[in-house]
Amino acid sequence: MPSSLGQLSIRRVVGVFTLLVLAALGLAATAGHAQTPASVRYITIGTGGVTGVYYPAGGAVCRLVNKGRRTHGIRCSVESTGGSAVNIDSIRMEELDFGVVQSDAHYAAVHGNAPFEAHGPYADLRSVFALHPEPFTVVARADAGIRSFKDLKGKRVNIGNPGSGQRGTMEALMAALGWTTADFAQAMELTSAQQSKALCDNKVDAMVFTVGHPNASIKEATITCDTVLVEVSGPEIDALVGQYPYFNTNTIPKGMYRGTERDIKTFGVGATVVTSANMSDEVVYQIVHAVFENFESFRLLHPAFARLDKAAMTAQGLSAPLHPGAVRYFKEVGLMD
Ligand code: GLU
Repeated sequence: MPSSLGQLSIRRVVGVFTLLVLAALGLAATAGHAQTPASVRYITIGTGGVTGVYYPAGGAVCRLVNKGRRTHGIRCSVESTGGSAVNIDSIRMEELDFGVVQSDAHYAAVHGNAPFEAHGPYADLRSVFALHPEPFTVVARADAGIRSFKDLKGKRVNIGNPGSGQRGTMEALMAALGWTTADFAQAMELTSAQQSKALCDNKVDAMVFTVGHPNASIKEATITCDTVLVEVSGPEIDALVGQYPYFNTNTIPKGMYRGTERDIKTFGVGATVVTSANMSDEVVYQIVHAVFENFESFRLLHPAFARLDKAAMTAQGLSAPLHPGAVRYFKEVGLMD
């Protein structure tokens, strides 16, 4: 019948057209392949818990790096980890290629200070760039009677998992006050991703997190139950900040979380990106290039990046020498002489 014949020929036309499209796509793929670098280099960035800022920060870096993978051949992925010290140790053991780490852990690794004393100074640690500020953040249950950080004494406190950056900062604070874990009713070692639930389930009275703001972890705590952000300031804190180059006074700006109507004074560090001296110059160059050449998009990828500044990112909180791949980019664009 004419109508079914018509349908048949339409099908044929569609079939031939589909073949043509597939062939064209195949050609395009082959053409694209011809430009693809001979080998693919896989790199992994160690971050922190998924509700922190490191994890999305690593994701933001990888997203920009992966956009250019057809030209440079680097495929970037992110790993959630226990935090700063875990990242540094994993780079040292060649289990991770890059890591986001606190400037205090960065300094401690370079000098072989706690918690890195077992392996001595890490001479091959290299800086790539600095990221956002990380105020030391104490969140307490509103019903726990904690108004200042000294009220943490005698309470159930999550001091952070071993290997996390907050654990290192908390230990520095405890040493400055002459406290040990015995000064708490209970010292818990939960990860950053577990602690907000523990706080709201009344398993702990307070939690600490050295982290950029805003972040999903503190949002989770402040939305789920009634909490207070606790000020960490006073003469002991001023002395601590005066004593160590990687500490600074810092604030958690008001209005970022439910129930925070005023700025909270505290001290803090900065987040930095590190790698090993064994990492190839070309890979480091491409990572820095991807972030700095797409800087406005990068800043928009996380609200904690809002005030990032290129010049500060080449130096702030970087105790290890800059990796030559980063230096090459910074010199190329005049960020370094
Ligand atoms: N500063 C924390 C650490 O070093 C991680 C913060 C985050 O996950 O954003 O462990």
